[in-house]
Amino acid sequence: MKQTNLLWLCLALLLFSCSKDAENIAPAAQDNSLISNAMEHFNTSVLTGTAVEAQTQSANSNNYRHNIIKNAEWSNAKTVQLSIGEAVQVPLSFSKELYAQVKNSPNKLALSSLSYLLMYRNTRGWQTEVVHRLPDAAYLANTAINKSFTGMVLVENWQGNFIRGYSYDGNGTVKKLLAPRVKGSSSETQVMYEMPSYECNKEIDWYTCSSWECHYSYTETICSWTGGESGGGDYSGGSNDDGGGHHDGDYGDGNDSGYPSSDDYSDAPLEPRKVEVAVIPHTTITYNPIASCIYGKLGPGNHAYDKFLVEFQEDSEYTVIFKLQDNLTDYRGYPANGTTNYTIGSTSITILINSSRLDRPSWEVAGTFVHEMAHAYLAQKLVSIGGPGNLKQYAENTNFTDLFDYYSKYVKIIDNKHVYSPEENSSAQHNLMADKLITDIAIGIRDYVEANTPEIKNHSEITLEQYKAVAWNGLRETGAYTSLSTEEQTEIGINTTILQSFTVDRCI
Ligand SMILES: [Zn+2]
Repeated sequence: MKQTNLLWLCLALLLFSCSKDAENIAPAAQDNSLISNAMEHFNTSVLTGTAVEAQTQSANSNNYRHNIIKNAEWSNAKTVQLSIGEAVQVPLSFSKELYAQVKNSPNKLALSSLSYLLMYRNTRGWQTEVVHRLPDAAYLANTAINKSFTGMVLVENWQGNFIRGYSYDGNGTVKKLLAPRVKGSSSETQVMYEMPSYECNKEIDWYTCSSWECHYSYTETICSWTGGESGGGDYSGGSNDDGGGHHDGDYGDGNDSGYPSSDDYSDAPLEPRKVEVAVIPHTTITYNPIASCIYGKLGPGNHAYDKFLVEFQEDSEYTVIFKLQDNLTDYRGYPANGTTNYTIGSTSITILINSSRLDRPSWEVAGTFVHEMAHAYLAQKLVSIGGPGNLKQYAENTNFTDLFDYYSKYVKIIDNKHVYSPEENSSAQHNLMADKLITDIAIGIRDYVEANTPEIKNHSEITLEQYKAVAWNGLRETGAYTSLSTEEQTEIGINTTILQSFTVDRCI
C-alpha cells in the first residue's frame, strides 16, 4: 500500500514537472525549442558518449587541429536564418588555442574566433557541421563596416572529416575546395600532378601562442577546384554525424539539396568573441590584513571597479584574479608595485600586487590596484580578439578604436608579428591610460579614500586634482607626462603631499 502511494506521488511529480516545462516552452519563440532539440541531438547522437571519444573516433589523425578537444558552448547558442531555413549556431571553444596565420597579413586569428558549430534539419534529419571561416588579408585590411566576406570556409563534421569548402574572392566568385592536407604528407605531390584541374596555392600556417611569442605548428594545404561547375561535386570524403555512409555529392549551392549554400557561410560578419570577467581575490589577498582591507574597499560601487571590471561580470567566461607576490618585478627586472599578466588564448587575467610594497600609504597601494584594473580592462579586450595583432580588423568598433590607435602608434608593426614585446605593450597601454583613462583611475582612487576616511569629503581643499596626482604613479614614462611643464610636474608632487596631509595612511 505504501509502495502504491509512493508510486502515485512519483507520477504526480513527473506530471507536474512535465506540464511546467510545457508551460515554459509554449509562449516562447520556437527558436528556443530548436536550440534545445539541436542540443539534445548533439548530446545523444553526435557526442555518442563523451566529447573526448567522439573527438578521436574517426578523426583525421594526421591533422593536429582535429585532435584538439573542442566544446560547444550551448549557453551562447543562437538561431540563424539560412537559405534552407532556420539553423542553430553555437560558439566553440578549444582545450588548446591554435592561431591561423593569414597570408600576406601580420594577423594571426584564434581558431575559436573563426569556428562555430552549425546544426540544421533536412529530410535526412539533423545535420551537424563544424564551420571554420578563414578571412584573407584583403578582408582583414578592409575597414568598411558592411564588407563582404573574402577568404575560405571549411565545413567539417564533429570528428574533423571534411564535408565541403568554399573560397570567396572579392569579385563574387566562389570556388569549391578540397579537403585540407597537411603539408609535407606524401599525397601532396600527387595532388599537384594527378589533379591538374585543382589549384593548390592556398595554405594555412597554424601557430601556438604563449604570452609574448607564437611557435609554428604546421601547415595545411588546401586546393580549390578549377575545372568548372560539375567537377567539384563529390569530394566530400566525410560522413554525416550519425555515422552513416557517404554523401552522394549533393552538396551543391542549390537550395533544393537541403544543405546550406555557399552564401549561407559568407553572409554573417566576423564578430569578436563575447567575453566576461569574474573577479576573484586569491587567498594571498584574503589572508593578508592590509591587502584584504584595501581590496574590500575597491569592490562594486567603486568607479574603477565598475568601469574596468564589473561590466563583464555576468555569466563569467573570463576571470581576473588578484594575487600577492613577494619581491615582484616588471619585465625589465625592476621592482614593480603591480603587474597584469595574461596569455592570448587563455580566459584568465592575473593581477599581481607586490606584497613587499604594502607598507606604502594605503591610498597609494589602492592606486596600484586601480592602475592594474585599467590594464586588465585593456587586456581583456585584447584577449577577446586574439591579441593586439588583430586590432586592425576591429578598428571601426568603438570598443577597440583607442587600443588600435595606441598600438598603431607605440608598436613597431613587423610582418607576421602577432603578440608584441612587454615593452611595446607597456608603452601602448600606459600612453592610452595617461591620455584616456587617468580621470577614471583618479575617481577610483578617490572612491577608495572616501570609503576609508569619509570625513575627507568635508575638506574643500581636496579636489580631483589631488587624486589625479596619485593616478600619475606608474604613468610617468608617457608622452602625456613628459609634455607637462616643470611647474605642472611640481604641482603633481605638491598635490600628493596635500592628499597625504588630509588622510590616514592605513586602511581602516
Ligand atoms: Zn602599468
